[in-house]
Amino acid sequence: MTQDMQREFTNREELINYLKEQFPKVTERDDNISETVGGRKAAEKVLQKVDPVKYAKSRNFFTGAITRLSPYIRYGVLSLKEVRNYALSKVQNQDQATKLVNELGWRDYWQRLYIKLGEGIWKDQEPYKTGFSVSQYAPELPQDIKEGTTGNVCIDNFSKELREKGYLHNHARMWMAAYIIHWRRIRWQAGAKWFLEHLLDGDPASNNMSWQWVASTFSHKPYFFNRENLERYTEGVYCKQCPLYGKCDFEGSYEELEVKLFPKGEFSRPQNSQSWQKGKRR
Ligand SMILES: Cc1cc2nc3c(=O)[nH]c(=O)nc-3n(C[C@H](O)[C@H](O)[C@H](O)COP(=O)(O)OP(=O)(O)OC[C@H]3O[C@@H](n4cnc5c(N)ncnc54)[C@H](O)[C@@H]3O)c2cc1C
Repeated sequence: MTQDMQREFTNREELINYLKEQFPKVTERDDNISETVGGRKAAEKVLQKVDPVKYAKSRNFFTGAITRLSPYIRYGVLSLKEVRNYALSKVQNQDQATKLVNELGWRDYWQRLYIKLGEGIWKDQEPYKTGFSVSQYAPELPQDIKEGTTGNVCIDNFSKELREKGYLHNHARMWMAAYIIHWRRIRWQAGAKWFLEHLLDGDPASNNMSWQWVASTFSHKPYFFNRENLERYTEGVYCKQCPLYGKCDFEGSYEELEVKLFPKGEFSRPQNSQSWQKGKRR
């Protein structure tokens, strides 16, 4: 079938229309077209914008100098080695590229684990450390999350962005996953499946193992956040317009939220919220 497919197009519009025609079932499920352009030329253009020094300082912020290379890496348009070498060529001393090279290392690590675990990546690697058993987590993702109608402006926007752009910032992925698993008590597999349906960089290894890390089935404690954390890294763009500001589900200190979310949690309680922040891997 691929051999018979048209490969040359006069413009992007023609390509889009052709693919819609060729894959009607996919279009039926979701006909959003992401702004991300595919192909080697586009990938090289994005690579040339990479700034490892700025990246290290700002990657956790929505306005940070993240690379947006993930779809190209995911489909092998760019290799990890090529990205690493480019990053090293842009710095005066190698340490300045450490943060970015570390993140590339995470991708490599998850891929190696995938080779070892195979379809086992869909299974909990360990029990949840949240104080709840698997049977206490719902197996399906509710419609309000899928459609972005929960009432939390941040969560609803992440849902929309995921569906329309096929991309979410790493922090938004973490918040969304934590909301689904810990606030709504839904099995991580339901959220992971939904992400894979929409992400242009959707990759079973990076995705599922990150979901398991948030869930605590592949880490020693669950990842969660509070409104202050989200507001800081998004520079308030969602909180400013949220009618639930000051009374949303994410309001409170880490200690207060921990008691609320995990009243029977097994993991040791930190001394203060700062130690939580420090203990965070990403
Ligand atoms: C719940 C959840 C689901 C995720 N699902 C995916 C997924 O399906 N596919 C995917 O590629 N990444 C996934 N990630 C990892 C990360 O969020 C994305 O790789 C990153 O946001 C992509 O944007 P970027 O290219 O601008 O990343 P940058 O921050 O600029 O990083 C550069 C490259 O390093 C790699 N990378 C960065 N962070 C990670 C990470 N934590 N784990 C693995 N590789 C990383 C990616 O290839 C990325 O393109 C997920 C993270 C979470 C928390």
